[in-house]
Amino acid sequence: MTARILVVDDIPANVKLLEVKLTAEYFDVVTAPDGPRALELAHSEAPDLILADVMMPGMDGFELCRRLKADPETAHIPLVMVTALSDVSDRVRGLEAGADDFLTKPVNDIALFARVRSLARLKQMMDELRVRQAASGDGTLLSEAELEIAEDLSDARVLLADSSETLAGKVNSYLAEDGHTTRHVKTVRDALDLAQSEPFDLLIVSLHLGKEDGLRLCSQFRSQDDTRHVPILLLLDEEDLPRLPKGLEIGVTDYLIKPIDRNELRARTRTQIRRRRYHDKLRDMLQRSVALAYTDTLTGVYNRRYMNAHLDRKIMEIAETVKPVSVLMFDIDNFKPVNDTYGHKAGDEVLSELAKRVSRGVRDIDLLSRYGGEEFVIVMPDADIEVAVTVAERVRALVADQMFAISTDVGALAVTISVGVATTRDPTETTESLIGRADAALYRAKGRGRNCVSSVELDQRGQRQAGLPVGR
Ligand code: GH3
Ligand code: MG
Ligand code: MG
Repeated sequence: MTARILVVDDIPANVKLLEVKLTAEYFDVVTAPDGPRALELAHSEAPDLILADVMMPGMDGFELCRRLKADPETAHIPLVMVTALSDVSDRVRGLEAGADDFLTKPVNDIALFARVRSLARLKQMMDELRVRQAASGDGTLLSEAELEIAEDLSDARVLLADSSETLAGKVNSYLAEDGHTTRHVKTVRDALDLAQSEPFDLLIVSLHLGKEDGLRLCSQFRSQDDTRHVPILLLLDEEDLPRLPKGLEIGVTDYLIKPIDRNELRARTRTQIRRRRYHDKLRDMLQRSVALAYTDTLTGVYNRRYMNAHLDRKIMEIAETVKPVSVLMFDIDNFKPVNDTYGHKAGDEVLSELAKRVSRGVRDIDLLSRYGGEEFVIVMPDADIEVAVTVAERVRALVADQMFAISTDVGALAVTISVGVATTRDPTETTESLIGRADAALYRAKGRGRNCVSSVELDQRGQRQAGLPVGR
């Protein structure tokens, strides 16, 4: 994996050292001698990760971090603070400012590459979601979502897998200060069972679970659907640090060295919860915007745009399948009085129920769409005119035979529809002309008194059979 890394430090030798190490591992390195220049490069170079020195004249690392995190354009870039001070209070200050992690000088290579890879991977995943989100045209929602997430970082559900009651008691009370709930388990089995029966926002796992291996639990969490995307915070002792790279490789998202510091635990938990919620939100929005692009919100069926594209394809496929494609167009009879008498809400209820009923009445390969207002279209591949008319008759009966419940005093309404049917076997016929014929047939059905089915093709055939001149 290659990633672009911005290194910020006021001492040229420090910059050089990190640059050499990172370049040797094929990372693309950009450097800045101070905070202001780093801010510029964070915009122009779009780095995947920033490694920033804490002690710098002018704008120090904390200030740089705060500025980056306050700017929507750079807030999502992971930032690692590099400091000579291994003082815990300093670490916490950085995490409070929004830093994603800490490295202490002299920089340990294992820790450096482990953190850089895991943060860069996370960033790239987020970027992909952002790109897809932007492509779907929902950009404004995204920054709103970011603000929303930043405002509420409490109320997380945390699973703690550790063999010590004492440690569990501490974690529980520290996290309760931020409104989180902790569930404690001591074995791999119990942890997996609990994670399957309840949702969690964060999994905290100790490297040693009695005699069991915590990394084995982490790897199982990563392989199961319920926990695949839930962040994992690994707890380990200083002497177990050599096993950390393995953990990060398995998918551990962050780690904490024992003994646990109250503020560091809270800060890291906050960071993980923020990421998790941001990620979930993006995914939700993505699914919603994709769905919005092709479905009708009131009825949940496909919209007109999607149906048109689908019908284009189905007509073209006739060249290969040599099978007819039929279209049913139907419209609610005398619907205006329903709105006028019972209100628009009652009308909406009828539309929703109608879509539900009709969906149940057609084959899986048929596509029901809302064409507009109270008009719907069903596209039926591999259906000739007889089949299409039979289906149309069935759909008409599904609507007419049972009253529609509405939430007004009358309770229920009788509703009917008129249906027009058209068929084509010609791969060069246009979608507009096929829909146009279905519409013409629908108009005839209305003319015949409504609550009936009509098809231009069948009418013509009937006229031929009766020896009459064929006309429209
Ligand atoms: P016809 O039998 O000739 O189709 O008569 P109609 O009253 O159904 O036809 P018209 O075109 O005059 O009225 C259609 C009505 O459908 C007008 C509008 O109030 C209603 N309508 C269209 N879209 C919606 C909607 O989304 N919700 C509700 N509640 N009503 C809608
Ligand atoms: Mg310095
Ligand atoms: Mg109508």
